[in-house]
Amino acid sequence: MPRPEMPGHFVCPDKIPAARIPDAATSPSAPYFYTPYPKWIMFIEPQRNAHSRGWMEVICGSMFSGKTEELIRRLKRAQIANQKVEIFKPAIDTRYDPNDIVSHDSSRIRSTPVQNSHNILLLSSDVDVIGIDEAQFFDIDLAEVAEQLAVKGIRVIIAGLDMDYTGKPFGPIPGLLAKAEYITKLHAICVRCGDIASFSYRRTLIDDQILLGEKDVYEPRCRSCFYKT
Ligand SMILES: [Zn+2]
Repeated sequence: MPRPEMPGHFVCPDKIPAARIPDAATSPSAPYFYTPYPKWIMFIEPQRNAHSRGWMEVICGSMFSGKTEELIRRLKRAQIANQKVEIFKPAIDTRYDPNDIVSHDSSRIRSTPVQNSHNILLLSSDVDVIGIDEAQFFDIDLAEVAEQLAVKGIRVIIAGLDMDYTGKPFGPIPGLLAKAEYITKLHAICVRCGDIASFSYRRTLIDDQILLGEKDVYEPRCRSCFYKT
């Protein structure tokens, strides 16, 4: 009998020698689980076949959750496969570099800063994959733009903050989440208690929705620590 499903403990059956598959009745403390899941469940990004049409992927989460790092990883893999990749970011975000997208762990990839989402449509001819970073800073039309690109057959990968510093849904992200085929929600670690963090707590009293900053301005917090203060 297979054990009950437990997210995060998937083991592909064909990677385990039959003799090592634990039996729920005789090996209650075995550290892994046999499940009937197909291979693709082991991968964080969607697995599509060569004949797939366009689709939308959203990578969301709080600050310091690794969204940009994951976006860069997916885009570089596409570049290695000789796919034509275009990358965009909002012109407002020049924290690290005027052109490159740079993650907290200093991985980087070349991008084109654009003033609004419709510029992405104008600059996206003859491409296989489009990456968009800091999507929360774009206008509300970004969801429609991304959908138009996906309908054209393009893989569109979007990364952005799902909530602002007050815990409210941020800009075009809710619309993107509704339209996306695939969503990856990443988490940071709460600096107060070490729990999973999905909120971006602002350490200053400035109340503009958009305030560019890093650890000097924001810290990741879990729900409980976010609302305690
Ligand atoms: Zn906490």
